[in-house]
Amino acid sequence: MSLSIAFDNSYARLPSRFFERVRPEAAPSPGLLILNTTLAAELNLDAEALASPEGVAALSGADVPAGAEPIALAYAGHQFGHFVPALGDGRAVLLGEIIARDGRRLDLQLKGSGRTAFSRRGDGKAAVGPVLREYLISEAMAAFGIPTTRSLAAVATGETVLRERPLPGAVLTRVASSHVRVGTFQYFAHRSDEDGIRRLADYVIERLYPDVADAEAPYAALFERVVQRQARLIALWLSVGFVHGVMNTDNMAISGETIDYGPCAFLDAYDPGMVLSSIDRQGRYAYGRQPQIAQWNLARFGECLLPLLSSDRDKAIELVVERLSGFAHEFEAAYYGRFLEKLGIATERSGDRDLVPGLLSIMQMGHADFTLTFRRLADIVTPESDTEAFMSLFGGNAGVDPWLLAWRKRLAAGDRPLQDVAMAMRAINPAIIPRNHQVEKALDAVIEDSDGSAYVRLLQAVTKPFEDRPDEADLGVPPRPEERVAATFCGT
Ligand code: AMP
Ligand code: MG
Repeated sequence: MSLSIAFDNSYARLPSRFFERVRPEAAPSPGLLILNTTLAAELNLDAEALASPEGVAALSGADVPAGAEPIALAYAGHQFGHFVPALGDGRAVLLGEIIARDGRRLDLQLKGSGRTAFSRRGDGKAAVGPVLREYLISEAMAAFGIPTTRSLAAVATGETVLRERPLPGAVLTRVASSHVRVGTFQYFAHRSDEDGIRRLADYVIERLYPDVADAEAPYAALFERVVQRQARLIALWLSVGFVHGVMNTDNMAISGETIDYGPCAFLDAYDPGMVLSSIDRQGRYAYGRQPQIAQWNLARFGECLLPLLSSDRDKAIELVVERLSGFAHEFEAAYYGRFLEKLGIATERSGDRDLVPGLLSIMQMGHADFTLTFRRLADIVTPESDTEAFMSLFGGNAGVDPWLLAWRKRLAAGDRPLQDVAMAMRAINPAIIPRNHQVEKALDAVIEDSDGSAYVRLLQAVTKPFEDRPDEADLGVPPRPEERVAATFCGT
């Protein structure tokens, strides 16, 4: 008997040029690697049934559950600045949509389940390493409170996929508010398919931004809202030291969720120029360039909407430029709001913002660990507290004292008891993040030694990131020089 899921598919009702119907390829010997039982419950899915042979067959693509309408979505995209008119789901299949407990409509997608019409020269497969990497990092991002696609399950296929070397294959089940990307709009815009753009925009409004439907100019309002969500998302990324690594327009979701985890990584020592992705040779997607790139991607989105905004092209362009200029304001408000909260300041006063670049510049000079700097600040909110552990992060850098003095003075002048401030700081500054060297070590143990214990331990720690747990202390420590990961690979 195959698995029963209450699908309610809407994307598959769009015109047929929006996707290709496809059957996932059968994995020869599927085996469950990991199942997100908490998420399953939120999705109204029966975890036990998902873990059964029928469930695993469905999660591997070997069996298509009743009610699923498997499709591969068409999209285009700017990859590293170059436009590619036809990308699409080359190794992903949207099984269908389900309604979660909270009423949200969510996509259930298999990633790595074989070739589609958009596979080009690819095999449509995914390897265990990148699948478990996306699972871990997306779940950590969710635990940080950052909008993201989620991971429901990872299943080994029992098949070998050929990359730089033969690797075990896997399929990830990904959950998203929608897989519509900036690149989906570009796909239709490039074909001058105005009807397609309009249908897609209407679809997105109904599904993701229902409140703009009643706006005087819904498409302009849609653009404004997407700009706003994206600006907030990037501010949140920066607040945890996240580097996406491949912010191509096909990897930017219209929902404002983080999507397509490839060679992404987190900063250890703070360095705004940090590039971690091995494929980003020019540093286009460096940590500190992410706001600028997001705005560039949004400009591409705005271009797609031009025909919907006004029949007068100049007027439409003016509108996009004007709304796009709102990005800087939205971003700065979100960025400073979040970073000040990280510093224990809930309500901004004039002059507060200076504390942020002030701290970041001494962190950069002292090569201070990003995560630990913010985490340890909560321990030293009072003038009497011992600053040794904090100071040690800066390698004896002299500029720290005046900053600390100014920061503590501001906290003392605040309206909350310092104990409450420290508690609030510990609830927003993670103690444990998926550090690159820990992630690589855990994945190596899975792939080389079939030992998932380090992975499970790391996953549990990063999904409860705000707890201080002495038994997990080793996971919170920055890499020693010889452990440092110089580049992350997406290894698709
Ligand atoms: P990405 O770099 O993962 O965002 O992928 C860019 C494009 O390449 C998308 O259209 C993917 O679906 C496609 N792609 C990536 N890896 C594969 C693969 N192994 N087989 C087929 N298509 C792939
Ligand atoms: Mg992608």
